[in-house]
Amino acid sequence: MNPGTAQQILRDTFGYSAFRGAQQAIVEHVTSGGDALVLMPTGGGKSLCYQLPALLRDGVGIVVSPLIALMQDQVDALKQLGVQAAFLNSSLSADVAREASQQLLRGELKLLYVAPERLMTESFLSLLEKLNVSSPTQSGIALFAIDEAHCVSQWGHDFRPEYRALTVLHERFPNVPRIALTATADAPTRREIVERLTLEKAQQFVSSFDRPNIRYRVTLKNNARQQLQAFLETEHANDAGIVYCLSRKKVDETAAWLKEQGWDALPYHAGLDAATRSTNQKKFLREEGIIMVATVAFGMGIDKPNVRFVAHLDLP
Ligand code: ADP
Repeated sequence: MNPGTAQQILRDTFGYSAFRGAQQAIVEHVTSGGDALVLMPTGGGKSLCYQLPALLRDGVGIVVSPLIALMQDQVDALKQLGVQAAFLNSSLSADVAREASQQLLRGELKLLYVAPERLMTESFLSLLEKLNVSSPTQSGIALFAIDEAHCVSQWGHDFRPEYRALTVLHERFPNVPRIALTATADAPTRREIVERLTLEKAQQFVSSFDRPNIRYRVTLKNNARQQLQAFLETEHANDAGIVYCLSRKKVDETAAWLKEQGWDALPYHAGLDAATRSTNQKKFLREEGIIMVATVAFGMGIDKPNVRFVAHLDLP
């Protein structure tokens, strides 16, 4: 990758015309070698805050994430943008994992996603140490990104004991900037992240969690189908959205009924075979204006920028 300015990479690699919110300040801070703690709501654009500095700095950005299921998607998306990326977690065969380590050592990666338990193994840390010794062929570690940093908090639902050990990164690689990111922004959690990850000197970037373009509305249910139909017609005629129902049967019936009414609706629930689920999910992601009628089995990790409504027909 050609080095460029943050703006150039934002435009040419990621295809965005402008930074959002605090992204630019964070990118500049981390690129110049500072530590950062980033609190931003889900969907706020945290990934760019470490991806861009990793591309701007020499060496590889190491991203710690507990969300193994999402690593593949993130790496695939980066590769599509032409960024050399890979991941290491327990889902990989030994051969594939070895190849990723080799790529790392050859200096061929700009971003490597690693599960915390893998990162904390002595063999992986030694590998990183080899990398960190500057040589003409290796350009070292660009940064450490600690995603879902609230996992360090013992009081949260997502507590991960391995996250506690991440202070070792600072001890063994004091020259490498660290950026910790989370969407959990309450003050006790924030304090705990700072303390547990020794981020006292990190600059904190706290975004507003107010999302003015998101509105909640609750309506008394009397004829759900009619109400849904009216909602779609008056406000979301050509929009992509999700209609959640409580049962699989209700999903099938509602999707079929919407189709009869001329809407582009598809069902999604765990009772459908894997091929149908995958086809429907891909259509929803790639085509315009699809309405996904689904149980809670649908939605986790879906990254689609233009979902315009979510309707719950059976709010529990
Ligand atoms: P988070 O990790 O905070 O939940 P992501 O990094 O996944 O958020 O970004 C959420 C969405 O916003 C993604 O679809 C991403 O491509 C998009 N996005 C991020 N930054 C920008 C930007 N500067 N301009 C336009 N879209 C952006």
